[in-house]
Amino acid sequence: MPLKTPQEYVDSLRAMKIRAYIGGERVSSIVDHPGVAPHINTVAKTYELAHKPEYKAIMTATSHLTGQTIHRYTHIFQSADDLVKKIEMLRLLGQTTGTCFQRCVGLDAANATYAISYEADQKHGTDYHERFKKYLIGIQNDDLMVAGAMTDPKGHRAKRPAEQDDPDQFVRVVERRDDGVVIRGAKLHNTGGINSHEILVLPGTAMKDDEKDYAIACAVPADAEGVIFIFGRQSNDTRKFEGGCQDYGNSRFGVVGGEAMIVFEDVFVPNERIFLNGETDQCGKMVTYFATWHRANYGGCKAGNADVLIGATAKTTRILGTEKNGIVRDKLIEMVHLTETTYGTAVAASFKGYPLPCGSFMVDPMLANVTKQNITRNVYDIGRLAHDLAGGFLATMPGEDEFNHPEIGDYVKKYHVANPQYDVMERVKMGRYIEAMTSVTTLVEAMHGAGSPQAQRIVMGMGADIDKKIAMAEKVINGDDDVPGLPLRGKRT
Ligand code: SF4
Repeated sequence: MPLKTPQEYVDSLRAMKIRAYIGGERVSSIVDHPGVAPHINTVAKTYELAHKPEYKAIMTATSHLTGQTIHRYTHIFQSADDLVKKIEMLRLLGQTTGTCFQRCVGLDAANATYAISYEADQKHGTDYHERFKKYLIGIQNDDLMVAGAMTDPKGHRAKRPAEQDDPDQFVRVVERRDDGVVIRGAKLHNTGGINSHEILVLPGTAMKDDEKDYAIACAVPADAEGVIFIFGRQSNDTRKFEGGCQDYGNSRFGVVGGEAMIVFEDVFVPNERIFLNGETDQCGKMVTYFATWHRANYGGCKAGNADVLIGATAKTTRILGTEKNGIVRDKLIEMVHLTETTYGTAVAASFKGYPLPCGSFMVDPMLANVTKQNITRNVYDIGRLAHDLAGGFLATMPGEDEFNHPEIGDYVKKYHVANPQYDVMERVKMGRYIEAMTSVTTLVEAMHGAGSPQAQRIVMGMGADIDKKIAMAEKVINGDDDVPGLPLRGKRT
């Protein structure tokens, strides 16, 4: 059965020669580096849960290409039910890890490539779809982790890719050969790429006719010659390096997705790994397909993360002795309300999924964008309520070194005890989780991941059909379709 175990995932990463820089240093093994290890541990959970009988329906699927049982993270959505199950999987994983588990970007990128390679072939007579299917069967059979890489550096925002002073501000083809192409450029804010097997490089924006070199979609092994990962900084990230310390907050699973910059320094891509090459008319659709699926996702993963955050906040109120206060209860319920609102919209977007020309399924665009728009607000509001209920100690509590200090340790413990039934370190651990999951990196990720808020409003504006709503209002207010004989108009009798 093509399902990797967590150990096999870690071993397979260890066997790769990934070129990575963390904290300014070249890293010999990402697996053994404390900066990346929590993120690898999170992905390992995605592999682990697929082996548990109770989660089989959510975590696995039947490949429409081979008929085999595969990980849902390598599946092409075949129905609205598949889309709903994906959201359920994300909520489950969010509840299990309390953070970003990274594999969804590659899943949505693979689905976008599957759909667009088909549509490109229909229009241009190319053979990208068959190529991609062969590539995907390999991914499914080996249960590989694929990272999707979309966001280009973009340089001067007022200029098109081909107008930039530095033409590498968008990933582009710099050489065409009989057996493939050479690409150059970078992708930013990349989630999970540093601990993935494969990178699926997609265009980051719609392209014009004269931007053929930028219309490239292809797959690159994460340890291919010329691929360089530069790990990003996060809030409080050096706490990870302090060793066995609770100060990081979610020390087992990390905070957000271990984002990195990926540099492609003249990377050769053979023909069998190229899925779009110069078809500029397909780029905008590809970005839209990817973004629409990924925006719905946030109602699953962030709801799962919020469940854990609500739990940590509620536990803190229990430790503080405020749990039974009616106002505290009401604020916890508001956190639940905000969480379920985002989840409900994501489920609805999935339930209303419809088939694309290739036969795979797309979520409802309006509801997917509403989901992500809600996330840009609700995650902040949920965090604000967590801060409100947990209290100021989130910002001022001493570190583990102080709690364990031979001279001052007893003071910091004594003056952080609340309800004496609870160990003071339990309060600290809950507080650190709340701090981590409401800090800058986490909030910015909720704001800008899968596109900035305005990107969602553009789609909502396109789908709103205000004229149709005006017609509805006119019909309701001025219409004459009453049931005959009902005294709705004119004088009372
Ligand atoms: Fe998946 Fe959510 Fe992370 Fe995106 S932010 S990769 S949807 S867990």
